[in-house]
Amino acid sequence: MRTPLIFDGHNDVLTRLFNAGGLEAATSFVTGRKGHIDLAKAEKGGFGGGFFAIWVPSPDDIDARMKAMSKPHYDLPLPAPIDAADAMKVVMAQIAILNRLEDLEALKICTTVAQLRSCLKTGKMAAIMHMEGAEAIDPDFHALDVLYRAGLRSLGPVWSRPTIFGEGVCFRYPGTPDIGGGLTQAGLALVDRCNDLGIMIDLSHLNEAGFWDVARTSRHPLVATHSNAHALCPHPRNLTDGQLEAIAQSDGMVGLNFAVAFLRQDGQMRSDVPFAQMLAHIDHLIAIVGEDRIGFGSDFDGAVIPANIGDASGLPDLRQAMVDHGYGDELITKICHGNWLRVLHKTWGS
Ligand code: ZN
Repeated sequence: MRTPLIFDGHNDVLTRLFNAGGLEAATSFVTGRKGHIDLAKAEKGGFGGGFFAIWVPSPDDIDARMKAMSKPHYDLPLPAPIDAADAMKVVMAQIAILNRLEDLEALKICTTVAQLRSCLKTGKMAAIMHMEGAEAIDPDFHALDVLYRAGLRSLGPVWSRPTIFGEGVCFRYPGTPDIGGGLTQAGLALVDRCNDLGIMIDLSHLNEAGFWDVARTSRHPLVATHSNAHALCPHPRNLTDGQLEAIAQSDGMVGLNFAVAFLRQDGQMRSDVPFAQMLAHIDHLIAIVGEDRIGFGSDFDGAVIPANIGDASGLPDLRQAMVDHGYGDELITKICHGNWLRVLHKTWGS
């Protein structure tokens, strides 16, 4: 079962291709690569596209962090801030990779919901240019304006590391997201400017103080692209019931993160996670935010994911698990892509 197509809240394939050699590595997305997403795996799994994150790696790389998170308890220090000029070089390189993927006809960079709908209809992979961490953006927002014109339509003010805009959550287990201060004055101004432009603000990775600052300031629905229920997995990256209620009130949404450390009750980066645990998170999220405000945010190519999914080609088993769990066709379609289109239409206005 490859439909309904899954439109997904978060992947890190651009960082993987960047680390694998940049523009030359982009071809492997078409010809086949190790990792969670390429064209063949997407076709096999009914992966219709999603938010493609531009992310600037810290010197401690993803793999080292994932290894540390396979211990029963952990408390990793926040990586050091990254200089704006250094960050911008990586941002440009990753946008160039995304553009190359479009030139290779592997995907289409979408800036409107009409474009997303058309891709889901024809089966062309749809990509939203998303930036996870605003290190490259100056406080005058000149870079933001230029990036918007280049196609940026979604932005996380922080990826866990502090930026001039705010602070994120650390990777600690167990723990709550109530760590550190909220948005700075520049961060509040960033929210306002993103609202004006029609750039979605992503709350995943913000700490709780920052979350409430966005909740108070933003004129758009509150969205966490790849986060789970803190009630089921007490990791700081997950959302408390109070945060979920605020997301519901704003008519926003949550993308279920497949990262095993944010799914498992024990917070470990171990891939033996049954579908029942993912469904328990979805049930909990639906109980608070409702059936119209939940989707997927896989973290493909950025995290250890459940072994029974494996990569994008394993998505049919997830759909089947939802059927077996008793979800109807209408709900499954909403979770797979309908709710993302709904919230993006409210945010972008077209
Ligand atoms: Zn992330």
